[in-house]
Amino acid sequence: MLIDRFGRKIEYLRISITDRCNFHCIYCARRGPLRWIPHEEILRYEEILTIVKTAVDLGVRKVRITGGEPLLRKGVVDFIAKLAKIEGITDLSLTTNGYLLVDLADKLKLAGLHRINVSLDTLDSEKFEKITGGFELERIWAGILKAQEVGFYPIKINVVVIRGVNDEEILSLAELTFEYPWEIRFIEFMPVGNSELWDESHVMPISEIRMKLEKRAPLKPISSHGGGPAKVYQWEGALGRIGLISPLSEHFCGSCNRFRITADGKLRTCLFSDVEIDLKPYLRERPEKLSDAFIKALTLKPEKRDISVTSREMRAIGG
Ligand code: SAM
Ligand code: SF4
Repeated sequence: MLIDRFGRKIEYLRISITDRCNFHCIYCARRGPLRWIPHEEILRYEEILTIVKTAVDLGVRKVRITGGEPLLRKGVVDFIAKLAKIEGITDLSLTTNGYLLVDLADKLKLAGLHRINVSLDTLDSEKFEKITGGFELERIWAGILKAQEVGFYPIKINVVVIRGVNDEEILSLAELTFEYPWEIRFIEFMPVGNSELWDESHVMPISEIRMKLEKRAPLKPISSHGGGPAKVYQWEGALGRIGLISPLSEHFCGSCNRFRITADGKLRTCLFSDVEIDLKPYLRERPEKLSDAFIKALTLKPEKRDISVTSREMRAIGG
């Protein structure tokens, strides 16, 4: 079992399978020239499977595939099918920008993926184009509906709230829960990735988001699907739920149960900590010692996050 110095049990692995992305979201991607991880440094699928098997042997039960945009990576459906066959994983999920869901949702379901989170920060097509760098909202919407049609449940929609950008849409996004059985999750804008845009004035604390929602109707607290950092609520009469995630204003470090694997094979113990263990030498020279890297990581996991702008972009770390 993976238990760290502060008694936290690590059961959740988030893996960025690529730092590549077609979108260029204003809150995630840095401005200026893109710095991609060279291809030869990106973990191969077999290497990721070895990492996951080791982690599962050590007690990991939840695995999330993310990026970058994970659905852009060639062979992702077959890779998910192999992951789904690993005994011991009770929750296998994927976070996507939704661009390829129209084409892949059914294949992902067949491959054995359990759950999907889709990022959608606005219901306004023009604003969507501005946030993502020129992409069509309609295509993402169709992808979410397709995911619902093929049976993914619960579908979670991630909304990064940025004051002055999409905070006026909190209510209309939350009201989707009257029509759809989705979990709409509002996330505080974090100082990861695009550091040029991030400053306190753009952050809307969860308490303020909650007040806006409570003005519409009282929020009833309910338990979340599979735990996690979101506090989950429901409006009377709604089909879906509302999740509130406050990495900044009310951090949840005390109950953090996760490690992250970057696209180039670094084990990160905290989103905000640049201390990393390189798994590639283990994988390529002494795979039988891979579990030692996880044990070592337990000693490096900080008690609390130190909010400073990280040196890595979100898409390499895996959001
Ligand atoms: N491309 C996929 C997507 O957009 O869902 C997966 C990778 S993305 C980095 C994962 C999540 O991180 C997304 O929900 C995104 O909204 C979130 N994210 C990215 N930058 C963020 C930031 N600065 N603050 C809060 N959330 C952020
Ligand atoms: Fe790409 Fe996701 Fe980052 Fe947007 S949030 S730039 S879709 S990785």
